[in-house]
Amino acid sequence: MELAALAQRLEMLQPLPLGYLPTPLAPLPRLSQALGGPEVWIKRDDLTGLGLGGNKIRKLAFLLAEAQRQHADVIMTTGAQQSNHARQTAAVAAMLGLPCVLVLRGDPPAKPQGNYFLDLLLGAEVRWSGDRPLLQALDAEAAALRQEGRHPYVITYGGSSALGACGFVAGIAEVAMQAQALGITFDAIVFASSSGGTQAGMAAGVRALELPTRVIGISISEPASSFRPDLARLTNETAALLRLDLAFSDDDFDVRDAYLGQGYGIVTDVEREAIRFAARTEGQLVDPVYTGRALGGLMDLIRRGEFSPSQRVLFWHTGGAPALFAYTEALEG
Ligand SMILES: *Cc1c(COP(=O)(O)O)cnc(C)c1O
Repeated sequence: MELAALAQRLEMLQPLPLGYLPTPLAPLPRLSQALGGPEVWIKRDDLTGLGLGGNKIRKLAFLLAEAQRQHADVIMTTGAQQSNHARQTAAVAAMLGLPCVLVLRGDPPAKPQGNYFLDLLLGAEVRWSGDRPLLQALDAEAAALRQEGRHPYVITYGGSSALGACGFVAGIAEVAMQAQALGITFDAIVFASSSGGTQAGMAAGVRALELPTRVIGISISEPASSFRPDLARLTNETAALLRLDLAFSDDDFDVRDAYLGQGYGIVTDVEREAIRFAARTEGQLVDPVYTGRALGGLMDLIRRGEFSPSQRVLFWHTGGAPALFAYTEALEG
């Protein structure tokens, strides 16, 4: 389908103009040369604007439009203590003049740092899940607010509903337009994949526009065997919402789970090396939880010959650098 037709489908959902879009698209010549592999470019979704930016702003543009249509009077979501999604939700709620309640995992740290520090600065009310499963805690806190006569709009983990994923269908349309203007195509897009909305939206967008581009998710938290069925379900829902005549199965998703290391948010040499490499070759800051792991994965794939030197690969920077300040000890030395 044509770009204009896809843009029209997306406009029917009336996304709010929250992001500073389009985000920059730039080559990384020194990094490409140092790796001796394909031509690597970067999509700067760490610069989506509000509250230090990140990929969740694209999803929130669609989600908050629905919250406004439903006349919600409080925005709620959940995540890890250093959740970028929670921080971006707090920023968007502030911009729209809505209160925000965040349910974060576990118990409060001794000192607010990184994203959690910014949540408080942005005026969000933070509640802690303690021993409760995260989504259960979120449901319970939402029910308590409804009891008080409030109308919460509850956003799931990572904003990864079909409506949220539309933000990344739009992201693909945006990069397709930029690439067209430059007269280039990308052979692959590589990025950090976790709750699935980013990869689902990209997969639907690439297929809808019939782009010759592989979508390669570096898994941050899930084994591919359990993640791919979730991605297929979410992508089918997203396609249906946009009335795209597309069907996806588990096999349609390229998920690399070789970089899970010791688990979510645990920094190893993969992230440490990638963070320093991006900083010192290109002056680009990637984060300890998501983009550091994803870039480390991309570097490993390049070393293993996944791409030919004549190919062009897009590293989609999904944000997260505010977490650097909560991980200084793990990154020193
Ligand atoms: C949330 C997040 C991701 C993963 O996006 P999903 O849509 O949840 O898969 C990647 N990078 C950063 C920095 C994030 O905050």
